[in-house]
Amino acid sequence: MLKDVIVKFKCKYCKKELEITIHNLMKAEGNPYCDCTENDDDLDVIGTYLKGSKEQSIFTITTLRDNERNAARCVGFCFKVEDAEEIVVNNVNDIFEEGYYPYCVIEELKQGIYFFPRQEIWFEWSLRSNRYEEINEKPKRFNQIACFGIG
Ligand SMILES: [Zn+2]
Repeated sequence: MLKDVIVKFKCKYCKKELEITIHNLMKAEGNPYCDCTENDDDLDVIGTYLKGSKEQSIFTITTLRDNERNAARCVGFCFKVEDAEEIVVNNVNDIFEEGYYPYCVIEELKQGIYFFPRQEIWFEWSLRSNRYEEINEKPKRFNQIACFGIG
């Protein structure tokens, strides 16, 4: 089992991605490092997944409050990003909950644990159009946070 669990790292400097099985990681002395620096602090963990599962993404849909810590609700997920977007922009089943969740984010994830989202698509409720509208920037209050739906 552990031979199939892969941790993916990304170098802070050259942005190269490295993959190491948990099995090898546990056997190794010290942390892995990138060829460009040989400093083991320069790698960020960007995901942990099971071998052979790289191709299948899910797109979680998470609604968020703007004024309460950790007030988020992952209402579900889709296998296609277009389906997730359809649900959000049409406010299917009132995921907005009559004003309770002014923000919504779709995150692309792969099978595994602590997976760092590959993609985030942000929406804010528009009082003018009475629906979630895609926004180009992640709201500042959520800037330091990742993994809203799972992980
Ligand atoms: Zn590097």
